[in-house]
Amino acid sequence: MSQVCVYCLRNAADTEDHVVPEGFFEQAPEAGYIKVPACYSCNNSLSRDEEYFLVAILAEATAHSQTANRVLDRLAEDHRSGRRPRSGLAVALLEKVRPADVYSPGGIYLGTGQAVQLDTTRVNRVLEKIVRGLFFHRFGRPLPQDATVYVEVMPELDRMRSSVIAAALSQAPSFLGDVFMYRLYFPADGTDATSWALGFYDAVLAIGVTGRLGSSEVM
Ligand SMILES: [Zn+2]
Repeated sequence: MSQVCVYCLRNAADTEDHVVPEGFFEQAPEAGYIKVPACYSCNNSLSRDEEYFLVAILAEATAHSQTANRVLDRLAEDHRSGRRPRSGLAVALLEKVRPADVYSPGGIYLGTGQAVQLDTTRVNRVLEKIVRGLFFHRFGRPLPQDATVYVEVMPELDRMRSSVIAAALSQAPSFLGDVFMYRLYFPADGTDATSWALGFYDAVLAIGVTGRLGSSEVM
């Protein structure tokens, strides 16, 4: 029997999904990509959101990370040369992205002087998928479809102070090169309760909380 997709838990997994998309990397990380069994649809349905997410975090990260600068240059070149299909919002964002001098403590603002509010619906879809992929990667079983998943990019300070997030932040990090880092806290084996701190390009932090336990504390 073939394995079931770790995201939808319905279709047969006939592909391997890169949990952190390949396009985020300049080159394959030494330890290899994190890959999980997925159906074709789940593997590909968020690719535009993933590109949007990538451009948004690169806008923040280029001030800190040379890798982020090179990935952004490559992405821009791919768009200019037509190697990538132009995809609406990501392109609009890409054209506005410059090394970001303008920050707001409450959210991500892109561009120099001109503030662009991030589309958190798209960003959160990508983050939830990453958390579900990491969950399978770490525990060898999919997170149930009905388990709650709370995610937030560049979290508010009061989220950071919550005990489940603080617990994640105190765990040892796992790195995928200088592109991605995660820290995982889980209070007990066999439950769906986990909390995650996710870092992108040493610059952008996101959090994730799964399961019924603890998530109410964060939300
Ligand atoms: Zn699927």
